[in-house]
Amino acid sequence: MTEHIYLKRLFQAYYQEEQNEIPSVSSFNLREFGFIPWEKKVFMKRHMKFENPRDLRSYLIQDTPRHLYSSGTLYLQPDAREMENKNYQGCDLIIDIDVDHFYTPCKEKHDLWYCKECGAEGTGMPEKCPECNKSKLTKLNWVCDDCLDIAKNEIMKLVYNFLIPDFGISEKDMRIAFSGHRGYHLKVESEELRKLNSDERREIVDYLTGDNISFELLGLTERSNQIFGLLKENLGWSQKIMNKIEKILDQPTEQIETLLLDKFYFGFNSNVVKSFLNYKDDFLKTITEGKRNIWAIEGFGLTMWKNFLRGIVKQIGVELDEPVSIDIHRLIRYPGSLHGKTGFKTQEISLSELEDFKPLDEENEKLDPIVFKSKKNLTHKLEVVAEALPITKIKGVEYGPYKKGEKIEVPHHIAVFLLCKEVAKTI
Ligand SMILES: [Zn+2]
Ligand SMILES: [Zn+2]
Repeated sequence: MTEHIYLKRLFQAYYQEEQNEIPSVSSFNLREFGFIPWEKKVFMKRHMKFENPRDLRSYLIQDTPRHLYSSGTLYLQPDAREMENKNYQGCDLIIDIDVDHFYTPCKEKHDLWYCKECGAEGTGMPEKCPECNKSKLTKLNWVCDDCLDIAKNEIMKLVYNFLIPDFGISEKDMRIAFSGHRGYHLKVESEELRKLNSDERREIVDYLTGDNISFELLGLTERSNQIFGLLKENLGWSQKIMNKIEKILDQPTEQIETLLLDKFYFGFNSNVVKSFLNYKDDFLKTITEGKRNIWAIEGFGLTMWKNFLRGIVKQIGVELDEPVSIDIHRLIRYPGSLHGKTGFKTQEISLSELEDFKPLDEENEKLDPIVFKSKKNLTHKLEVVAEALPITKIKGVEYGPYKKGEKIEVPHHIAVFLLCKEVAKTI
């Protein structure tokens, strides 16, 4: 608890010093605000409003919450307690990409679990204990350059493969932010999209993820023992799939083989892969010439082709957190605020800055989420309270791994991170 008092004071000092850096959001006084305080027993305080950013900044300095959120939704009475009294005016389209919700290979290294039932431990993200099958796992999710790169790549896919070409959304209507922990979110502020109801948002989500896609509707069919495939000239998913197939088939054979054997995408057995590779040049010729769409690979019937296409779709579709986009009353992290589970800043980035943006090692000070990096080389002595800690790599320097009870001395920004994560205490 003393850690929380300490962190709250740090956050407070930050907001005091940097208050002019905390941006406004559009339609500011129509947004609902929500906070999670440092005091353990209080959940989120919602249904708050501020007339202007100045009032919000004073609140942050005075009350200094652990987390700060605002709505994607616009209301005439954002502070009304009941949704039906808020006078709903529309909601921005929000897309949340968070590696909490999908697999990344680096989790095998840095996400730890410990079974309270049988004492087994390991890495990765199992649903339940592989030893005793119980689901009472204590999990520790970590963050690294790799998973944040993957999350960033999902945002790039979203913008360049979908929002711009298929939805005609212009860059000026997009607000992109690093969440301050394990992902990014993107907000589209357009009058057109604000009108959409939840069902229409669900359709957009389905389109972006490629879930529930019907290959039959895209043209896949079997007639007199021949498979007719998709065509590139059909815009939308058909074209995306065909372009992706071409790109994959253009790679060296070993790379194609590895991909087709990859359990996450295709999971084909080696015989199937062998047959595919034997016919791949003919297949590539068929689809690049685009004259006929008869797909012929020995052993590939309709089911096998569907499995193949599903693997392709998995690579194109965006890994987004669906409920966030569908729910029209969601709150999302406020830009410029601090994330209470890391001490990192929720950082807005423009589309042109995104490609080079490195949240854990950003050189441009204006975009750097690691705000507690001490210029005076201040360090702290801590004791590890979690069962184990994976390597933490921030600003290009590695700390750990550590074991429970270990006493460590780390720079200020690492100490803030570990204390926010509640895996260490001050000594
Ligand atoms: Zn167990
Ligand atoms: Zn990672």
